[in-house]
Amino acid sequence: MSEYPYAYDVPVSQALFDRAAAVTPGGVNSPVRAFRAVGGTPRFMVSGTGPYLTDADGREYVDLVCSWGPMILGHAHPEVIAAVQDAVSRGTSFGTPGEGEVALAEAMVERIDPLEQVRLVSSGTEATMSAIRLARGFTRRSKVIKFAGCYHGHVDSLLAAAGSGVATFALPDTPGVTGAQAGDTIVLPYNDLDAVHAAFRAHPGEIACLITEASPGNMGVVPPLPGFNQGLKDACAENGALYISDEVMTGFRTSRSGWYGIDGVRPDLMTFGKVMGGGFPAAAFGGRTDVMEHLAPAGPVYQAGTLSGNPIATAAGLAQLRLLDDAAYDKVGTVSTRIQALVSDALAKEGVAHTVQNASNMFSVFFTDRPVRDYEDAKAQESYRFTAFFHSMLANGVYLPPSSFESWFVSTAHDERAIQRIADALPAAARAAAEATA
Ligand SMILES: *Cc1c(COP(=O)(O)O)cnc(C)c1O
Repeated sequence: MSEYPYAYDVPVSQALFDRAAAVTPGGVNSPVRAFRAVGGTPRFMVSGTGPYLTDADGREYVDLVCSWGPMILGHAHPEVIAAVQDAVSRGTSFGTPGEGEVALAEAMVERIDPLEQVRLVSSGTEATMSAIRLARGFTRRSKVIKFAGCYHGHVDSLLAAAGSGVATFALPDTPGVTGAQAGDTIVLPYNDLDAVHAAFRAHPGEIACLITEASPGNMGVVPPLPGFNQGLKDACAENGALYISDEVMTGFRTSRSGWYGIDGVRPDLMTFGKVMGGGFPAAAFGGRTDVMEHLAPAGPVYQAGTLSGNPIATAAGLAQLRLLDDAAYDKVGTVSTRIQALVSDALAKEGVAHTVQNASNMFSVFFTDRPVRDYEDAKAQESYRFTAFFHSMLANGVYLPPSSFESWFVSTAHDERAIQRIADALPAAARAAAEATA
């Protein structure tokens, strides 16, 4: 199946993958983990410490995925683990309110000014799905604007021209989503304000909300052009639609108050996940009190969850947020800048066309020499070069996201030793990228 000689040199992972494939579709519980975009055997991880992951064959990797963002303090941070152990010793779920969820909501509201009230849920998908329902219930309108290449979880109505796994597999749409569900979704090119204005003109009084990644990371890192988010906010305000900023990836990662802390554009509603759960399933949506009060039991829009505000997840999330001070973000930013420069230098040395784009400490490497401003630009890259680059890095102990349409993530735990390992692996990977053929 694979042309990569080292792809099957992981017999324990391969055996686990075979077992998994018998009982789970494609052998994984989330598509991008299956390595389909790059080929080869996905590594089954058994432990993580700081910036390292160890797989079932006993190989150690510098981790540049960080669980797709949540592990911003590295793996098994002692203070997060202690908070989890303390919480778990008191029981795992009560089905009642508890102090941990209040404390986590307070910590979020304190950090992010437009966030007046939040509702905790268990995944980013649930957060965006619920925010859209609330926006529709509040405005009594049906249509939703989203952007091609932006991923908001696997919400039916938002799985049109989505990024992430869907971008990787280039699925134009997905079976199982009805025409009615997709028909209320208007998909526009990213970074194109004229298209947004035209959509509002074409559907007067019909658009409930516009949802956008605060700074997209699911088609690779494609930041908003200057003024784009403010333009979106203004267009929504002029047309009576809600502006929903999806900060599931950027929230508490790109700054102490997420992307809002960087561009200062005030959304009506926001969504969160990843970092706020400290590696557990915790997510949230929130925003203006007058909108949030439409949610049950305060208002008529129904939303609920058996495990929402789970005491272990909230303890982990709160412990992580408390450790994320300005010094932590400075550290992550410095590590990110250094790795970006190392990768770019190595590729330049081999004459490989590439563009490194970042949004604060999130970054990705596109195999094209043109700036990437939207999904079409991202798809125009030479992804086959990434495949060769990825496998060379993996063989030399660096775990990259297994797709060229993803952000790379670093943590406060990425120290000199980890950075040196990346630097040591880069020359061979850059050569492999240079020599790759389509
Ligand atoms: C990861 C992500 C989601 C989905 O979150 P899940 O917890 O995987 O459901 C939604 N929006 C954005 C921007 C994301 O990056």
